[in-house]
Amino acid sequence: MSAALAILLSALAMTLIVGVRYLATSGAFALATRVTRPGLYKGLDAQIVREIKWSLASAAIYGVPAGIVAWGWSNLGWTRIYSDVAQYPLWYLPVSVLLYMAAHDTWFYWTHRWMHRPRWFRIAHAVHHQSRPPTAWAAMAFHPVEALTGAVVIPLLVFVIPIHVAALGIVLAIMTIMGVTNHMGWEVFPRFMVRGPLGGWLITASHHQRHHERYGCNYGLYFRFWDRVCGTDKGLGSFAPAGGAGDRGARAGGRDAGQPAAHRGRAAS
Ligand SMILES: [Zn+2]
Ligand SMILES: [Zn+2]
Repeated sequence: MSAALAILLSALAMTLIVGVRYLATSGAFALATRVTRPGLYKGLDAQIVREIKWSLASAAIYGVPAGIVAWGWSNLGWTRIYSDVAQYPLWYLPVSVLLYMAAHDTWFYWTHRWMHRPRWFRIAHAVHHQSRPPTAWAAMAFHPVEALTGAVVIPLLVFVIPIHVAALGIVLAIMTIMGVTNHMGWEVFPRFMVRGPLGGWLITASHHQRHHERYGCNYGLYFRFWDRVCGTDKGLGSFAPAGGAGDRGARAGGRDAGQPAAHRGRAAS
């Protein structure tokens, strides 16, 4: 088999894996939402169909760089992914997971902030904010330009930061689960954690909810570090009960496709 065909098949396989992983994870949390908060997604059917379409398109964009790197890893020894757990000290396993999360979080914060500049918001990020309020299906609902900024992170990091293949699996699992839970419209983590000292530094649904309400704040992915350092952290949002008002009022109020006027005019953040 030629290298080109092998790379194409690898990209297709990765697209399939990312797509199925998205459908399974978002589907599971959407089901949990139906069971525990019936009616929370009432009236959002058309939005959910749109979220699924954009997310599946994103799966293909994620699949290509991942497929190329996976092919290079197995055929040419590319990347610093290792499979012999003894190659690095055991303490490095959790450290590597944290390093990947910190690097991804930094990349996400700054590219996300950049995509809130008016011109780039219209081009790349308005699609994600069309979900008002977002649902568990919005985890990968990105315009292709935004999807591309997310798709290259892990495939580039594996060339720089050594990581055990199982630790990489944990990074991807955390990425997938947090992407879904941060958008599903209710807090999955216990109150003592979210509102306690740990929640002061970790991002969960309550934090990202406020980003979707107010736009010009709370840009981070996993950690509140950059938001706090840069003064863009505006605290935690709260969730409306199923069928209640809250940010559903904003949806019913019919914001336009862009950001709220107060934010739209700003050059940055
Ligand atoms: Zn979001
Ligand atoms: Zn945003």
